[in-house]
Amino acid sequence: MKEAAYNAYTTAQRQFDEVANIIDLEQPVRELLRQPSREFHFTIPVKMDDGTTQVFNGYRMQHNDARGPAKGGIRFHPHETVDTIRALSMWMTWKCAVVDIPLGGGKGGVICDPHNLSLAEQERLCRGYIRQLAKVIGPTLDVPAPDVMTNGQHMLWMLDEFETIHGGRFPGTITGKPVGMGGSLGRTEATGYGVIYSLREALKVLNLDIAKTSASLQGFGNVAEYAARLYTQLGGKVIAISCWDNQDKKAVTFRKVDGLDINAMVSIKDTFGTIDKVKAQQMGCELLDGDQWLAQDVDILLPCALENQLTPATFTKISAEVKVICEGANGPTTPDCDELIKAKNIYLVPDFLCNAGGVTCSYFEQVQCNTNYFWSKEEVLEKLDFKMTTAFRAVHNLAQEKGLYMRTAAYVIAINRVAQAVKLRGWV
Ligand code: GLU
Repeated sequence: MKEAAYNAYTTAQRQFDEVANIIDLEQPVRELLRQPSREFHFTIPVKMDDGTTQVFNGYRMQHNDARGPAKGGIRFHPHETVDTIRALSMWMTWKCAVVDIPLGGGKGGVICDPHNLSLAEQERLCRGYIRQLAKVIGPTLDVPAPDVMTNGQHMLWMLDEFETIHGGRFPGTITGKPVGMGGSLGRTEATGYGVIYSLREALKVLNLDIAKTSASLQGFGNVAEYAARLYTQLGGKVIAISCWDNQDKKAVTFRKVDGLDINAMVSIKDTFGTIDKVKAQQMGCELLDGDQWLAQDVDILLPCALENQLTPATFTKISAEVKVICEGANGPTTPDCDELIKAKNIYLVPDFLCNAGGVTCSYFEQVQCNTNYFWSKEEVLEKLDFKMTTAFRAVHNLAQEKGLYMRTAAYVIAINRVAQAVKLRGWV
């Protein structure tokens, strides 16, 4: 398995250790929380459409379930690594804790490229994944959801396999399901909208009018799409979007200095967030190098793709205009780059706070499934906004009060909550 130059798990542990020192966390609590409590590594044989069998590697990491069942997405990605999933499972624990929902942290993944799999092969992969985990996930144990390159259809195939094995209907097993099949209205929008609720609050504290701001985005999957939609609805201008081009196997930036039409961009992207270059040019977009999204004269950067994108090397490209970074992705910034962001006094809304809208809505989905009563979209989004805004304010206030970097303040709140739960349970 290929390891990136930056290892997400090392980053997650380093971030944790730093805050554990600040809050003087007891040694056994540190040992417990700086690694996943359970890990599942397994093979998934899949019958391919051409009659051959391909064996995939799948994982599920349960970092912590002291505050509630483990919770977190399943990612399909060719460059997925064990350590990335470990890191992502840790970040899920902090994410659920910072927005104060009664769930722990977990994450899953399969090393595969869904671009190269037919729908029937993807369905068999989803079912094979669940057959390996059916005994250790469920509404009271560990609740998966979509993540990078997985969607509601994948979740429904997974749920169907789980229900076939266990005999019954257990809709609270998996979230991010299609609406009408146990899914919640607003779940598709939730992560991206949550990013913009956080941005809106950040701009308030900075005394900036959102309608006078501009932004540049990395990624055009689910999170970036809905972040861009809400941001432009609130009057902001998206100048550039960088996304993965599967044809050329590299990222490309689409730019329009007078503002991209987000509906039009969505209409020319595929389900994995790749924008059609020819159609984009016909619409008047300029095509630039993949990292050029960073170099635009914008007020706001929204990294909404993968880990390790903001590094000291890429940070040199950032425009002096940038005032706010909202991390829609998990782990987009490396710890050495955090130091540069601090030094430049850029306001950062850290990942596990900024992108917590998805899992918060997943929690609402579980509540609705458990009561078998589904809310209107307005009700879901209103509750989501309230949760996100409350969490943002608590982190911002602590950062102000103690002179902390926003990421550190978010960690202080989250780690304290989880540490209290493990202690109350008598685990340490
Ligand atoms: N995959 C999303 C995340 O990283 C959502 C997780 C969930 O809804 O459980 O937050």
